[in-house]
Amino acid sequence: MTTPAPATQLLHAARELTRLGLNKGSSGNAGIRLADGLLVTPSGVPAEQLSENSMVYMQWDGTPEPGKKPSSEWRMHRDILHARPEVNVIVHCHSMFATTIACLGRDVPPFHYMIAVAGGDNIRCAPYALFGTQELSDSALPALQERKACLLAHHGMLALGQDVAQALAIAVEVEDLCQQYWRLLQLGEPPLLSAEQMQQVQAQFKGYGQWRR
Ligand code: 13P
Ligand code: ZN
Repeated sequence: MTTPAPATQLLHAARELTRLGLNKGSSGNAGIRLADGLLVTPSGVPAEQLSENSMVYMQWDGTPEPGKKPSSEWRMHRDILHARPEVNVIVHCHSMFATTIACLGRDVPPFHYMIAVAGGDNIRCAPYALFGTQELSDSALPALQERKACLLAHHGMLALGQDVAQALAIAVEVEDLCQQYWRLLQLGEPPLLSAEQMQQVQAQFKGYGQWRR
C-alpha cells in the first residue's frame, strides 16, 4: 500500500477534526513534517472548503510558499516538529471539553489510567498566551515535554503523533478524558491513581494491543 501524499494526509486530518466534532468553522489547524520543511493548513479556512491545493508549504525558517497564508499557529507546528523528531503530525483543536478544562487552567490529573496515553501522569495545561504568537509556541513546548498532548489555557488542545491516525486518536482520547474529568468535577475532586499505579499502567501498555509501542 502506498502512503498518500502529505497534502492528502493533512486534508484528511483537517476533515476528520471536523467530522469527529473536535473542531467547528475555522477553529484549529494541523501540520505535517516534510523532508525539507512543513506543510500546514491555511489560516481561517473551514475544513469543508479545503483541498490538497490549499495546504501551505513552509520552509523551516518560516517562509511560506508565495501567495499563501499559513495557519496563524505555524510557529507552534514548526517548533514542535523541530523539538520532537519522533513527531510527524500535529493537530490543534478547540474541542468542547478540552477547552472547558483549559479555561480553568488546570492540568488533567491521573483520575483514569488512560491519562497515560498522553505519555505520563497528567495532561498539562500550558499557561495562556495570545493565539498566533511565538509566546504561545514557547508556552506549549514545555507543557508537551514527554507528552503527546497538552491543553492551552483559555484556548484548546494540541495532540501529536507519528502519523495522522495517531494524532487524531490522541485528540479523541484527550477530549473524552476531559469530558470525564468535567463530569467528575461536578461531584467534587475525584480520587487519583498514584505515581506507582501510573508506572504500572505505562509498563502494561508496552505489551498491549497488536504492536509494540
Ligand atoms: P488558523 O485558522 O490561523 O489556523 O487559526 C485557528 C486557531 O485555532 C488559532 O489558534
Ligand atoms: Zn486555536
